[in-house]
Amino acid sequence: MAAGRGRALADSRSVAPLSPAPPAVDDLHRRILDWYSRAGRDLPWRRAGSTPWGVFVSEVMSQQTPVARVEPAWLAWMDRWPTPADLAADSPGEAVRLWNRLGYPRRALRLREAAQAMVERHGGEVPREVEALLALPGVGAYTAAAVAAFAFGTRSTVVDTNVRRAEARLVTGVALPAPTLTRAETALATSLLPADDADAATWNVAVMELGALVCTARAPRCAACPVEDLCVWRAAGSPAYGGPPRRGQSWAGTDRQVRGRILALLRESAHPLSAADLVAAWPDDDAKRARCLAGLIEDGLVEPVTDGLEQYRLPV
Ligand code: SF4
Repeated sequence: MAAGRGRALADSRSVAPLSPAPPAVDDLHRRILDWYSRAGRDLPWRRAGSTPWGVFVSEVMSQQTPVARVEPAWLAWMDRWPTPADLAADSPGEAVRLWNRLGYPRRALRLREAAQAMVERHGGEVPREVEALLALPGVGAYTAAAVAAFAFGTRSTVVDTNVRRAEARLVTGVALPAPTLTRAETALATSLLPADDADAATWNVAVMELGALVCTARAPRCAACPVEDLCVWRAAGSPAYGGPPRRGQSWAGTDRQVRGRILALLRESAHPLSAADLVAAWPDDDAKRARCLAGLIEDGLVEPVTDGLEQYRLPV
């Protein structure tokens, strides 16, 4: 590894943390954009001809869910609801059913509500402006920036966990970023955007892809990294993470798992299910099962059937 180039980034950072030396940044741009053109995954929503709606759906699905699980779900959704109007006209229960096992199923309801808002306020189209995107149900700063960049080529700063991790190592020289996004990280990501708008849009997805495929959380593949010799963290000897403890992603036995099992039973059933039917979702803890069912009802993901029987179904 040619540590000198990485050191140039580190030294420039110590003087002006958000303004790495231009020659090194130009090199970073060229190499990462070139790497992405060769190694970026051929995902259906990245292909020519993909619609802004397809990009929008992919961004909502990809939050907190790995791409390998998103791809088949995205294909099924786009086949069933190729436009916002198609989804807006269908029932919330069908959105939850087709969400399948992507996790965090409230996203399915928010996606349908966003589709309804697009029909009501934007003529059935995904809006181009970040402000209009932010006003849609369930759309936060990340999704708005990502859709603006990837659907419309707008210059915007897109910062997800993969970007944060890659830029933390590459430029800041730490093993992992802070537990939650900081203003300094967003400022750093903005300062790293290429000057050309089209390159800036591609840069966002290229760094994201580098974090997803090469600069991974547990075992970065530095030998395969196109910018290893520019990496401040590598130049510093790959120091271990020294920040606050990080919360693990627990799953077994959590309310999320129980909620997922209840929804799975309801998805797979052609008719409403009784409380007794739902025991199969979590037989060992009646209180936990009841609490999770109540939470699903409160979230609008399940509704009681009001015909005198104690039965439940996906919302209609
Ligand atoms: S050299 Fe390693 S740590 Fe640095 S950006 Fe590349 S993969 Fe990440």
